[in-house]
Amino acid sequence: MGRKIGSRYTANQILGRGSAGTVWLGEGPDGPVAVKLLREDLASDQELVGRFVQERTALLGLEHPNVVSVRDLVVDGNDLALVMDLVRGTDLRTRLDRDRRLAPEAAVAIVADIADGLAAAHAAGVVHRDVKPENVLLDMQGPLGPGGSHPALLTDFGVAKLIDSPRRTRATKIIGTPDYLAPEIVEGLPPRAAVDIYALATVLYELLAGFTPFGGGHPGAVLRRHVTETVAPLPGIPDELWQLIVQCLAKAPASRLRASEMGARLRELLPLVAGMPPLDVDEPDAEPLEEAEEEPAAARSGEPVRRRGAVPLVPGAKPADSNRDTHTSMRVPGPDELAGGARGTARVPRPTGSPRPGSARHRAVTRRRRITLGAAAVALVAAVGVGTWWATSGDDAGATPGGPTSTAPASP
Ligand code: ADP
Repeated sequence: MGRKIGSRYTANQILGRGSAGTVWLGEGPDGPVAVKLLREDLASDQELVGRFVQERTALLGLEHPNVVSVRDLVVDGNDLALVMDLVRGTDLRTRLDRDRRLAPEAAVAIVADIADGLAAAHAAGVVHRDVKPENVLLDMQGPLGPGGSHPALLTDFGVAKLIDSPRRTRATKIIGTPDYLAPEIVEGLPPRAAVDIYALATVLYELLAGFTPFGGGHPGAVLRRHVTETVAPLPGIPDELWQLIVQCLAKAPASRLRASEMGARLRELLPLVAGMPPLDVDEPDAEPLEEAEEEPAAARSGEPVRRRGAVPLVPGAKPADSNRDTHTSMRVPGPDELAGGARGTARVPRPTGSPRPGSARHRAVTRRRRITLGAAAVALVAAVGVGTWWATSGDDAGATPGGPTSTAPASP
């Protein structure tokens, strides 16, 4: 006998745990569903419950073959749950963890699917704000597409927006996942549709390369790279595909493609990448662990070592048994991180013997530096103010108050 969620649903079996809650395989009046039960501390937050109800229309209104539809919202005693279409398959992060890189044809097909889903969302005035491999589900029961890929669906619509309330994200906090954050968010502008395009282009790069273009190391360093660095080329892919990636990773949001254009262009490029094997590119995180002063526990226990550092979306967001560290809710980066000198970058040549940014040895060295610099940094941050590292409150300037599209407006 499963757990009752509201009067209409039963949660029978855990499908997965994420930063915002637990996803259950459930049963509803119309058959099997996926039920995302939000964490207790989120469910007991009256402000969040209010937003949950307010966002109802936007959350329930999205219908597209590449979007995981939210069927119902349940507010019942201590339970706050999203009832979604059940996708029988896996998420793209799990696939990447297994395969490391995808063949370009499969990568392009998956990203084209998600671009189509985003086009529908943006047309409805909904910005996702947290596009990343964890939120892409592959429907293993769907027909095989180009490169042997299964249909891809984007999930978690509106969840970032729900959790991102002014009280939870004070002026010194940024909501999102560092590797996929568009530069304009880092600079404190409201998240519009173009942030999803940037994040999706980051996913495409990651599927091809096995690593994200600006990831690695301290979250503050990752944010800085989004703003200041250009993306390193991926040898071996057709120039047209590379140009599309570069355009969608443009620092200026208006220079990026729209979702519908991105989907259409990617589909046009499919024949160019048909049959290509996964790329063979240098992994910037390839520093051997012996160099590290501290060996991660995961490495000692033989578990796969997660290559990217990330911290939870909201304080305490990581459930004790979660293996997902995919969001960030971070402090304002210190002056040393903003200056860039202390962190360096994963992309520029390093002097011989210096630790690669993001490596365990680098982390150990920078941790020592941070302790030393800590007091000075706190004083300096207070002095310079938060400036451009402003939080995104999520209440976007152009949103219609109380209207069905009270998430950020669609136009970039
Ligand atoms: P969070 O966003 O809170 O981090 P996720 O949405 O990533 O959590 O969900 C956690 C797990 O549940 C993932 O492993 C994902 O595969 C699974 N999951 C999420 N939504 C569905 C769904 N609609 N159908 C099937 N599995 C799902």
